[in-house]
Amino acid sequence: MPKARETVLEIDLKKLKHNFEYLKSKLDNNTLFLAVVKAFAYGNEASEIANYLETIGADYFAVAYIDEGVALRKAGVTKPILVLHPQTVNFKVLIENNLEPSIYNSKILKEFIEIASAEEKQNYPIHLKFNTGLNRLGFWHSDVETIHNIIGETKTIHIKSIFSHLAASEDLEEKIFTLNQIETFKGIATNFEETFGYKPMLHICNTSGILNYPEAHFNMVRSGIGLYGFGNSEEENIHFQPIATLKTAISQIHHLKKGETVGYNRAFKTNSVLKTATLPIGHADGIGRIYGNGKGFVTINNQKAPIIGNVCMDMIMVNITDIDCNEGDEVIVFDANSTAETLAQTANTISYELITSISQRVKRIIRGA
Ligand SMILES: *Cc1c(COP(=O)(O)O)cnc(C)c1O
Repeated sequence: MPKARETVLEIDLKKLKHNFEYLKSKLDNNTLFLAVVKAFAYGNEASEIANYLETIGADYFAVAYIDEGVALRKAGVTKPILVLHPQTVNFKVLIENNLEPSIYNSKILKEFIEIASAEEKQNYPIHLKFNTGLNRLGFWHSDVETIHNIIGETKTIHIKSIFSHLAASEDLEEKIFTLNQIETFKGIATNFEETFGYKPMLHICNTSGILNYPEAHFNMVRSGIGLYGFGNSEEENIHFQPIATLKTAISQIHHLKKGETVGYNRAFKTNSVLKTATLPIGHADGIGRIYGNGKGFVTINNQKAPIIGNVCMDMIMVNITDIDCNEGDEVIVFDANSTAETLAQTANTISYELITSISQRVKRIIRGA
């Protein structure tokens, strides 16, 4: 791979394919695969990733907001797109772009039917989200009758799926709670079928759900983090390949004497001679201030260089006293070996947060197409 001369996020589609195939290997042949590509495909780059996933067999996509779905349509994505958290002000745009809303309460259901009917839609696909314990969004089990009453005889919409979301699928200590969520979901599905007289698709598993609850795959699974290379546990991480490499290059090297300070607020003070490298990446690129002052690190010539002092907006300084390197040398912030999960842990957070934080200023380079 060519060396970085600036800060770039390289995305390897071969690794994406590997992760997709690993997840698919966990599914029955007739279980559909929904790829979650919200938030720029978890900070990577949504359009090329979704188009590529479509060519290798993803059946469905999900985004959080309507604009994210519109961007995918503009990029040529043709498979169905579920919008997990649509805002009612944009329902017309959703319909114009053939996006499928997640509907999570009666008020929004009524509003959607009204707008879709004004657009003279028939059998417009919608998805009903049920709350089974996450207590974030969703109808309650007891709402099935109410939903049936609201829908009545209307042919405007068609309930394509009912779904729920697990609260702690990655945490096996919460297995009893999770199994309870799955049982509640099954009860809702049965109740729905009795009330409506037909069976919509069912889905409840995210990545960790796919891995830990094979009995709950139902008709479709929804994976995000797994596609991007993280399995949410040490045992599973080895089967995944992080698709993104965040790299940069050394701008300047300084040799400091004992007693000098580094960066804003003089947060770091040398207690012996010290060699530092200044790198063109800062909190405006997604490396938050939390990673400063010795918490986070980068890798230069296979050696760890801790971030010293405060993270600046556009730069960080790292300690390279024991590293043989030169100005212009490549620096790895995270890659498949020194992963975003490891770096995230230094700040007590998770891979999800670090990768989705890499800002749009960082150039994306897609490889392996
Ligand atoms: C983000 C999201 C997912 C994907 O979860 P991962 O843990 O990244 O696989 C699935 N379902 C819903 C409802 C989500 O919001």
